[in-house]
Amino acid sequence: MTIDERRLHRPVAFDRPDHYPFKDVETKWQRRWEESGLFRVREEPGRAKYYCLEMFPYPSGRIHMGHVRNYAIGDVVTRYKRMRGFNVLHPMGWDAFGLPAENAAIEHGVHPAVWTYENIATMKAQMKTLGISYDWDREVATCDPEYYRWEQLIFIGMFERGLAYRKSATVNWCPSCQTVLANEQVEDGRCWRCDSEVVPKEVEGWYFKITDYAEELLAWCDRLTGWPERVLTMQRNWIGRSEGAEFELPVVLADGRRPPGPAVRVFTTRPDTVFGMTFAVLAPEHPLVDRLIADPSERDRVATFRAEVARQTEIERLATDRPKRGLRLSARAVNPFSGEEIPLFLADYVLMGYGTGAIMAVPGEDQRDWDFAEAHGLRIVPTTSRPTEWTGEAYPGEGVKINSGFLDGLSVPEAKRRAIDWLVERRSGEAKVNYRLRDWGISRQRYWGAPIPIVYCPSCGAVPERPENLPVILPPDVQITGKGGSPLADVPGFVNAACPRCGEPGRRETDTMDTFVESSWYFFRYCSARYSGGLVDPAAAAYWMPVDQYIGGIEHAILHLLYARFYTKVLRDLGLVRVDEPFLNLLTQGMVVKDGAKMSKSKGNVVDPDELIATYGADTARLFSLFAAPPEKDLDWSDQGVEGAFRFLNRVWRFAEANREALAAAPEGPTDDLSDLGRAFRRTVHETIQRVTDDIEDRFHFNTAISAIHELINALHVFAGESQDRVPQGERRALLREAVEVALLLLGPFAPHLTEELWERLGHDESLFGHAWPTPDGQALRRESLQVVVQVDGRVRSRLLVRPGTADEALRREALADGKVRPWLSTREVERVVVVPGRLVNIVTRRAGGEA
Ligand SMILES: [Zn+2]
Ligand SMILES: [Zn+2]
Repeated sequence: MTIDERRLHRPVAFDRPDHYPFKDVETKWQRRWEESGLFRVREEPGRAKYYCLEMFPYPSGRIHMGHVRNYAIGDVVTRYKRMRGFNVLHPMGWDAFGLPAENAAIEHGVHPAVWTYENIATMKAQMKTLGISYDWDREVATCDPEYYRWEQLIFIGMFERGLAYRKSATVNWCPSCQTVLANEQVEDGRCWRCDSEVVPKEVEGWYFKITDYAEELLAWCDRLTGWPERVLTMQRNWIGRSEGAEFELPVVLADGRRPPGPAVRVFTTRPDTVFGMTFAVLAPEHPLVDRLIADPSERDRVATFRAEVARQTEIERLATDRPKRGLRLSARAVNPFSGEEIPLFLADYVLMGYGTGAIMAVPGEDQRDWDFAEAHGLRIVPTTSRPTEWTGEAYPGEGVKINSGFLDGLSVPEAKRRAIDWLVERRSGEAKVNYRLRDWGISRQRYWGAPIPIVYCPSCGAVPERPENLPVILPPDVQITGKGGSPLADVPGFVNAACPRCGEPGRRETDTMDTFVESSWYFFRYCSARYSGGLVDPAAAAYWMPVDQYIGGIEHAILHLLYARFYTKVLRDLGLVRVDEPFLNLLTQGMVVKDGAKMSKSKGNVVDPDELIATYGADTARLFSLFAAPPEKDLDWSDQGVEGAFRFLNRVWRFAEANREALAAAPEGPTDDLSDLGRAFRRTVHETIQRVTDDIEDRFHFNTAISAIHELINALHVFAGESQDRVPQGERRALLREAVEVALLLLGPFAPHLTEELWERLGHDESLFGHAWPTPDGQALRRESLQVVVQVDGRVRSRLLVRPGTADEALRREALADGKVRPWLSTREVERVVVVPGRLVNIVTRRAGGEA
């Protein structure tokens, strides 16, 4: 049911005439903050900085509840840190290149730039209605030539150092989108965007040499203590470091001769298992295969097999749950350890891009090899003794070596060392570290991306554009059809370019960069967004970087974060920045789900933030999304939850307004000489400060922080009633005023408009967010008296204020003598009194003169 339907069917809280005027309040303060430049910041050397960053959005058209949640989290952190005295940078921008803009162009005939900038305008207006504390002066859109010119300059720097290079490789290709897809963009063999079947294709393109940084990227995973462990684990697995040995695998042709040319090399993480090598496998694409073929019929078989494998994507080939196809060659391999000749295969499960493209197969210890051996009737020789309880097939664990010649009797680690020593002594192999990580393919055969600043010259080859000619601007006048590669190839004014080195006519690169490149450095640009001397003003970068708190979805746990880390290290090595890592702390927020599924248009369970804000106000939208779940957990949408948040804010409003006169007339702060009731209440106020501060500071547990504020508001109501005739008026007003101010300050980061308005109505001239975050008063926290509940037959009848450590007997006496308790005992006899020290006295009665 949509919110509108609910309104039709039954009256709810917001239809009551007494709800607070959130529309006027929110508009007023959004304008006021903007006019006063409250959140515009600049470097203040010597003052502590805090850089809070949410992942910038793709301008798809409208913001959704996931965005609202993301930005509300960042806004709480920003406002809180600001109140704690930090100089807080909180910028926003647009990850503006990408395929949807091009698809919109194809479907609706609107230019990608027009579509993108219209969406930016819409989403920016939506964001402003949320009242997020951005410094909009630093806004960037990555499709702006003044943004991507720096990316092109960095590309040239990387090209000159061999960190950007061109190669041909088999890629996942979406025939419908006509573009390369990363493995993560392929879901069940289909394109994540258009659902077409993905095919492998040999494509030449540009690559960033992220593998040069594999070791450092991995090592830093241990030092990013402010990151969630599961993200670090995903990054470590993605980098995939493995230690092992690489060695030469001799090959014998069908006629007994050795093939000419370089030897086949294999990498293994288990050199201790070499005596179990009963066959060897080459990737079908292995360049040495052609030299191993004996005759034309074998050549045909190999060609047929290669064609079959070429129809499979890499993901299919690596899947563990499918049969592994193989072709046995006439040539044979020789196990260098045993001297034994063994069968040699081509198989689809070995890929050229991983390791050396050749493996020694040890079916006793490797399940994929086991499956292949079973399917092809090959020998299986276990080389590690199995535990007696082992019932599986291949055994990958520890144990004593068996069937292993000179390694027999050794442990697995010792056998690994000895096997490597043996290879080194014979100069046929060595210890080697291997990474799963491969270089980052950044070429996209698309229009709406940053042009790659390269010109192909018939005499000089690939030549980078001269820095003074940057930016290489994406030409606006193109025909976008979605078919047949980059539309830039059909723009003569773009393609035809003079060689930057020799001046001869050349051809400009028509691939554009992967949009992950733009998102790998935008956080540097924010530090000095209008700087024209380079990608970032070094002084600004030195002051603001690294980002203190980065906030975004878990779906970016691998690629975006890894690329941003890599790019930061490249910028460092180019001498442009000084930081090793971009993000000190990372928070990965959960999804927003409704009716058990992630909100999505296709599921029809989307809640539109605009509608929510129009009905309840931005403060309610924010408070709900922060209260319903801790930030890292999924947030389950609930209409009742939204109404609850709205009712709570109304309650705060009504209390402050109803007591406005008493609060305005309050003396300057409470005195030391308080009544017992006043002292107990003041302790509650200061305990709340402590709780809320701890919840925000250490754990970002905004939901429990908000709960504590709820309790404080409840305590306010109770105290306001109970203190009427029990507390001197001056003390009462001072305590109420202090408590209301504390409540507004604590609630401020969550519901900034309402609190700012009430703060002003209390008579403050300065913004609430210019005020310091409250700190608990140690004096107030001291427990000089405890509140003990008195029940009669299980019902609360009174509360006693007693000193800590009051004896049970004294509590019992005071409870029985209490003025509010005695009427309940007038017709009853006390049977027994139960005392829970420091908390409760329960008086159990029975009818006078009879049974209970
Ligand atoms: Zn597609
Ligand atoms: Zn040239």
